[in-house]
Amino acid sequence: MNNEFDGYSETDPIRAQHERTDFNEHSVPLYLTSSFVFDDAEHARALFADEIAGNIYTRFSNPNNTEFIRKLCLMEGTEDGIATASGMAAMYCSMAALLKSGDHILASRSLFGSTHQILSQLFPRFNISYTYADITDLASWESKIQSNTKMIFVETPSNPALDIIDLEWLGKLAEKHKLILNVDNCFATPYLQNPAKWGAHIVTHSATKWMDGQGRVIGGAILGKKELIKEVRFFARHTGPSMSPFNAWILSKSLETLAVRMERHCQNALTIAQHLEKHPGVVKVKYPFLASHPQQALAKKQMRHGGGIVTFEHAGGIEGGRKFLNALKMISHTANLGDTRSIATHSASTTHSKLTDAERAAVGITPGLIRISAGLEEVTDIIKDIDQAMVASKD
Ligand SMILES: *Cc1c(COP(=O)(O)O)cnc(C)c1O
Repeated sequence: MNNEFDGYSETDPIRAQHERTDFNEHSVPLYLTSSFVFDDAEHARALFADEIAGNIYTRFSNPNNTEFIRKLCLMEGTEDGIATASGMAAMYCSMAALLKSGDHILASRSLFGSTHQILSQLFPRFNISYTYADITDLASWESKIQSNTKMIFVETPSNPALDIIDLEWLGKLAEKHKLILNVDNCFATPYLQNPAKWGAHIVTHSATKWMDGQGRVIGGAILGKKELIKEVRFFARHTGPSMSPFNAWILSKSLETLAVRMERHCQNALTIAQHLEKHPGVVKVKYPFLASHPQQALAKKQMRHGGGIVTFEHAGGIEGGRKFLNALKMISHTANLGDTRSIATHSASTTHSKLTDAERAAVGITPGLIRISAGLEEVTDIIKDIDQAMVASKD
């Protein structure tokens, strides 16, 4: 556990120093180069032998990726990390790099759709097995740990069920059984929650979502303990999921505004959630900081705010949900989240469509579940659009 870390100062990502070039630029320059020139044969040899630090080839490292990761480590309280081409590259590499044939992963049941596919469809090919545990039944976790269990993988809040898992408790469980705790912190962002503080050894991100926050790039990050990242870096260097320096440059700038953006996203999301809770056409609303959320107290303990995602169950079920999406005038109907623009998604027919009905039910995805990603628009405009779409989708 990184007890010393208690969140970052908003000044940190804005004022983190980068190495200036001879031009003495104020903002970080973009290094679009696939390779770097060696001083001489001895320099090349020493670089390849890892005797000295330096850039060789952008698949291995690049100044923009290094700068982005350095900022992110300041924000997550982690020692080291690598930037990946997507969030899924981060999820996959953080597991594949640290596990081998015969190992077992214990994971929370409510996971991002593609993460579930990795565990259930791809890893079994390499003889890596998994067991799901429910966040509502913490007692069952310990009994599901096997002699070959190596990693605990969780997502909190989960997508799209918004389940919250107790990170402090999990950190202690991982410590007791000497397991690697890997937390997908995409929904919370480093501004709302820092899993390393509670004992996570690896923190994974899809930078595509709130971190970019403007719907422009795909990216991911794997952060954590130095010795584990060393393994992950070796795996990534030779398998090639590196982030484009252009995306790292974009994302590094995004980190400087993450705090102000998240303040507004969360405020809008809470207002939308409170409004929907009073709405007659809505069966159920889920938002981590609402009193009706079964884990509100836990969410308040480990998160600064409730996040930018609200889900609700349309009273008209699957048909009502579809009509609602078709009736929206301003809110975008697209398969992303964490954008300046508010977005509505029907999980059952999109992000989690590859799951069976039973699998969806097990992770709380009901047929009429709508996921709203609160954007940065005036909240009155977002609510106006929701209200008119509710009227239009009434029966
Ligand atoms: C989107 C998402 C991912 C995958 O990220 P990509 O950047 O789309 O590859 C992983 N985990 C969670 C929780 C996500 O929301």
